[in-house]
Amino acid sequence: MEVAAALPTNVWQHHDERPNLTGDRATDLDAMVEALTTVDDDGDRVTKVVDGACVFQNRPGSETGPGCAIHFAAQAVELDPLEWKPEVCWQLPIRVEHHLDDNDHSTHLVRQWTRSDWGEAGQDLGWWCSEADEAYSGTSSVAVYLRPEIAALAGEAVADALIAHVDGQGTVVSLPLPTRK
Ligand code: SF4
Repeated sequence: MEVAAALPTNVWQHHDERPNLTGDRATDLDAMVEALTTVDDDGDRVTKVVDGACVFQNRPGSETGPGCAIHFAAQAVELDPLEWKPEVCWQLPIRVEHHLDDNDHSTHLVRQWTRSDWGEAGQDLGWWCSEADEAYSGTSSVAVYLRPEIAALAGEAVADALIAHVDGQGTVVSLPLPTRK
């Protein structure tokens, strides 16, 4: 909420949802929580919905163009957006599973979230970032583009190992998988 209090109005289309601030930190934070969040049916506190989407979601035609106002604001001051965005927002679409076997050998599985990971709730969510064709049209690999997110979730070593693996793909000769006759 401190981030929301400081968001410049020119990067936040729905900035008029922000309450008037008094200058008293505790009072203002309470007012911000009240004005910009709500409690969902599961009892979780979530960002308020305005015209069918998150209050921080700028729409097509807004000054910044479509996208997250918090993301735009962080980029404007050259901060990584994950420093300011809600955790669940910057984690998507990367999911990291940590497995420890009986010999204490740990494995990190980096993959994308799927609808089934969210149970029934996943069926209702939009999955543009992992299901739309445009999500696979970038000019750099996910390992590179989302390195900060992968490092935050799985550690610097895993993030670097992934990039090294992707970089090495150009010299690796893949053998065909055995097939049954
Ligand atoms: S990334 Fe999160 S905070 Fe930003 S617009 Fe989307 S749901 Fe809202």
